[in-house]
Amino acid sequence: MYDKTSRKAEDFINHQEILDTLAYADAHKDDMPLVREIIAKARERKGLDHREASVLLACEDSEVVAEIFALAKEIKQDYYGNRIVLFAPLYLSNYCVNGCLYCPYHGKNKNIRRVKLTQEQIREEVIALQDMGHKRLAIEAGEDPLMNPIEYILESIDTIYNIHHKNGAIRRINVNIAATTVENYKKLKDAEIGTYILFQETYNKESYLKLHPTGPKHDYDYHTEAMDRAMDGGIDDVGLGVLYGLELYRYEFAGVLMHAEHLEAVHGVGPHTISMPRVKRADDIDPDDFDGGISDETFGKLCALIRIAVPYTGMIISTRESKKVREMVLPLGISQISGGSRTSVGGYAEEELPEDNSAQFDVSDRRSLDEVVNWLMRLGYIPSFCTACYRAGRTGDRFMEICKNMQILNCCHPNALLTLKEYLEDYAGEDTYRLGMDLIKKEIHVIPNEKVRKKTSDYLNDIVAGGRDFRF
Ligand code: SAM
Repeated sequence: MYDKTSRKAEDFINHQEILDTLAYADAHKDDMPLVREIIAKARERKGLDHREASVLLACEDSEVVAEIFALAKEIKQDYYGNRIVLFAPLYLSNYCVNGCLYCPYHGKNKNIRRVKLTQEQIREEVIALQDMGHKRLAIEAGEDPLMNPIEYILESIDTIYNIHHKNGAIRRINVNIAATTVENYKKLKDAEIGTYILFQETYNKESYLKLHPTGPKHDYDYHTEAMDRAMDGGIDDVGLGVLYGLELYRYEFAGVLMHAEHLEAVHGVGPHTISMPRVKRADDIDPDDFDGGISDETFGKLCALIRIAVPYTGMIISTRESKKVREMVLPLGISQISGGSRTSVGGYAEEELPEDNSAQFDVSDRRSLDEVVNWLMRLGYIPSFCTACYRAGRTGDRFMEICKNMQILNCCHPNALLTLKEYLEDYAGEDTYRLGMDLIKKEIHVIPNEKVRKKTSDYLNDIVAGGRDFRF
């Protein structure tokens, strides 16, 4: 039976509840008084539940769709402003014992070059990433208890945090590794990770079992209940995600919102982020082999609806998507993007060779970080390398409070300007530097609190004088 407060996957991601939700959405998608009522509720910026949001997803009325897009833009502007936080993935190892049908790392793939970075190789990768200007990483690894045990992940985190090349530093490490035990989540928490990210891939249990035929990841319940264990282990910030393309998107959309509602009901705080990956071509993988492919237009609508359904949850889009698609979804609610990414193991320190097939998927946006920073500014965004929140203890509900109270302009906005300034001083190309300086000059006036504005101005001068890592 559906129960969002239950700790059992079958209750909080209840299959019958999702089927009933989809039937309800079909029955009401043209019920304009109800649709209007749901949009009016969304305008209050308190979010929507999975049923309400599913009605809007099913509704195809062009005026309503235009309203949804406009509202998503407004909410994004109100809560996140025009900042976009930048990060890069760092692949540590592609050894994997699972059998995921969509992933080239699957254990049976004998084509792929298997690589596990040594601590020295991690140093080289991190120096290359620092030299690009990155401050925030998401570390990624296949699931292999012998090759990639938790001790390897913890040692790698320690290595990464301790590398300081020139003015470089990785100040926040988010972790995307397989579902694990409460004890291991505690160890990750003690290692001071930022967000623990785990994609559900699909919420549909029957499909999940087929898509994960072998290996520990086959256990749907263990995987689906992972975020509860992570939160029990003390990790406040967790990141959800569905791999769109595998299953029917309407099912996944209801599922991810039910997951968010469950975390909020049980732990008092919803997910910190929701990632929006779509399945991509890779060695041994053809995205057309799966049933759930979605158009760019539908993808945009999904982003907009997640924005209005969970206004305080960050949204992430990676370089799986092209420049064009990223440009389309940025205003609809995306708060974080990756830039200059390599999805091969060891791909930053060494030039990626065309014959190297150790990558997890094809990257669509292959621009350098500087090109991405430049492009964001030309589109009117402030590229941010901020990592302040979890370092200042603003995780979980404490971050949500800032967001809900719209304090972002006195906190995240100045931090964005300060970290952009560091980037400009240390890594930017000439044109990016010029654009960035003009932008900072303009954006500093947007900070509402006079004291914060003055302090930001002082810090900016200190950065020119060589100081680093100032933050609110
Ligand atoms: N092994 C971990 C796990 O099982 O969750 C870590 C994650 S893996 C390195 C990161 C994510 O990449 C997966 O959760 C999956 O959603 C995504 N991924 C795998 N194959 C992909 C493909 N062909 N295209 C796009 N994304 C893919």
